[in-house]
Amino acid sequence: MPADATAGAGDGARPAAPGGADAAATGAATGVEVIRLEHVTRVFKVGDSEVRALDGVSLSVRAGEYLSLMGPSGSGKSTLLNVLGCLDTPTSGRYVLDGEPVEKLTEDQLADVRQRKIGFIFQAYHLVARMSAARNVELPMIFAGVAPAERRARAREALVAVGLGHRLDHRPDQLSGGERQRVAIARATAMRPRILLADEPTGNLDTRSGDEILALLERLNAEGLTLVVVTHDPRVGGRAQRRLRMRDGRMAEDG
Ligand code: ADP
Ligand code: MG
Repeated sequence: MPADATAGAGDGARPAAPGGADAAATGAATGVEVIRLEHVTRVFKVGDSEVRALDGVSLSVRAGEYLSLMGPSGSGKSTLLNVLGCLDTPTSGRYVLDGEPVEKLTEDQLADVRQRKIGFIFQAYHLVARMSAARNVELPMIFAGVAPAERRARAREALVAVGLGHRLDHRPDQLSGGERQRVAIARATAMRPRILLADEPTGNLDTRSGDEILALLERLNAEGLTLVVVTHDPRVGGRAQRRLRMRDGRMAEDG
């Protein structure tokens, strides 16, 4: 793969990864390429018109990196995050995740990737309203077939880790916004993914709660998780090691 196909490859303090093939050897080792986009497009057809939500995006991300993704509303940030999270697939171009070209994965394999490799956090939390915090965190483990006793223990552990050990039985409507987002983080990390994708995670929060959420995400990143944070808040985006900008479906990198 020519070096010009990636944005930001080779910069920064981390050792250069030799290429996609090596990334198949998983594990917590940093420096290995976990995400590679090559000239990715995503075109939505609406009636007779087309929206090029992604217009030739290339990117290389190594394990343990911390990226922010900024840009005006409608510039393609969520579309990019959905592609990275295998919730959506490119119209053209290539996405190599952990050394595997995503277009070659079957539906079952894709579901498995979403379950095990990737954690998602959304602006509006997306918790199940009638379930307790603990039950919400258990959900992905139920889908993944983790045994009841183990998933209960892991849900409790994940909630304790985000400072909510005293809120296990609270439903979302009995929690503050910041607490809800912490439940969402516990849920997103319960399956111990390698990549965490956050779409405007502080968008609904006051500054103080937002800062707490960022600190939590950054702690997870310090522990080795690859972190991508979408934000339109420059104060939030400025904290990341690498800062990506979207405009009209195209991506550029600061610095
Ligand atoms: P952002 O997250 O940066 O605000 P999005 O990625 O949500 O932007 O959207 C990028 C562009 O793609 C916008 O013009 C939006 O209207 C369009 N778009 C996003 N999702 C769809 C969809 N499912 N169908 C049609 N157009 C879409
Ligand atoms: Mg968006």
